[in-house]
Amino acid sequence: MKCRCGKKAKFRLKRYRITLCESCYPSFYVGLVEKSIKKFNLLKKSERILACVSGGKDSISMIYALKELGYNVSGFFIDLGIKKQSKKARGVFEEVSEMFDLDTGVVSLNEYGLSVDDLKIGKVCSACGTIKRYLMNRFARNNGFDVVATGHTSDDLLVFFFKNILSGNIEYIPKLAPRLEAHETLVTKVKPIFERTEGENRALVEILNVPYLKDPCPHKPKDRWRGLILNMEREKPGFEQTFVRGIVRLADSLSSKVNGEYRRCSVCGEITSRDVCLFCRLVERYGKTPIVG
Ligand code: AMP
Ligand code: ZN
Repeated sequence: MKCRCGKKAKFRLKRYRITLCESCYPSFYVGLVEKSIKKFNLLKKSERILACVSGGKDSISMIYALKELGYNVSGFFIDLGIKKQSKKARGVFEEVSEMFDLDTGVVSLNEYGLSVDDLKIGKVCSACGTIKRYLMNRFARNNGFDVVATGHTSDDLLVFFFKNILSGNIEYIPKLAPRLEAHETLVTKVKPIFERTEGENRALVEILNVPYLKDPCPHKPKDRWRGLILNMEREKPGFEQTFVRGIVRLADSLSSKVNGEYRRCSVCGEITSRDVCLFCRLVERYGKTPIVG
């Protein structure tokens, strides 16, 4: 089995019908990201990008690719106050930022007297998602960034799609678009690696020998969807990419039909569907310090 460079290949990527060696894999990966960015008009070279890094393989792969492609990118980390996880994640973020020579920003949930561990609610992951989106957006806007970039993969999009279709939440499907333009108080959001799989990202960080968080978040419930998706991909290589492109087309066609009604949060001024946004309600309920700005 030979790589395109003539050396002995280490990987067979069935979905691309290619075999590659360790030295050619990173540039192949970056080339794929470049193609997605061009095909879906995801980013411009003039934009200031805030790349949100959790410390996991996906967001690290994203920031590596954006940096290699010459985008104007800074790293952003949120310390969520999760025992055993946040401290390690921050260490990884700092190490990676140094390796990739990144400007960085960090916000700690503790600044609001909150920690994800203290949330005594059923849907911790959903509240944590709201918190992260809120803080990413606010940091980006207040610091003059044009785009918030996240490391969502094709696996993430497929899981979100199946779960929401099955619960009838069609109105959430437009959020799966890989670029959501800025509106009201929201900064533009982009998913530059939405066509990449978790497997491709794992291979990249392993080859680059970059540190990354291997343990899943302790709050994350067991998810059977990922296993099912992996099995389908095994049965039919390329299934994920084909499906994710279909989801994106659907997201685009639905976006004009979903007319959101927005108000401004009476506490912080961000857009919300209620009088007080969920972030401010969480701070009010679980925070230990008064709300600041
Ligand atoms: P998740 O919500 O954990 O599936 O993560 C989705 C994306 O959100 C990641 O790929 C990152 O880009 C971003 N993200 C998640 N957690 C953090 C964090 N603690 N700090 C900064 N960005 C994060
Ligand atoms: Zn608010």
